[in-house]
Amino acid sequence: MNVGKCPKCEATLSSVNIEHVDVSQNFQSRWHGVSYTCPHCRTILSVSIDPISLKADIVKEVAAALRTFRP
Ligand SMILES: [Zn+2]
Repeated sequence: MNVGKCPKCEATLSSVNIEHVDVSQNFQSRWHGVSYTCPHCRTILSVSIDPISLKADIVKEVAAALRTFRP
């Protein structure tokens, strides 16, 4: 198992918590994101776009575009 240390509390981490966070651009909410946090002190270790929400949003937009497509 891959383990590391929290940079703040220095606890050995074998897992992290995931929490929802909105990702905005120019103060407008654009994407669903996730933050990876230390389970001991809740320090944010990393933030990224939520891949599951991104997939669902793409499927929704493609389905909407196909409904309006008239060849
Ligand atoms: Zn920590």
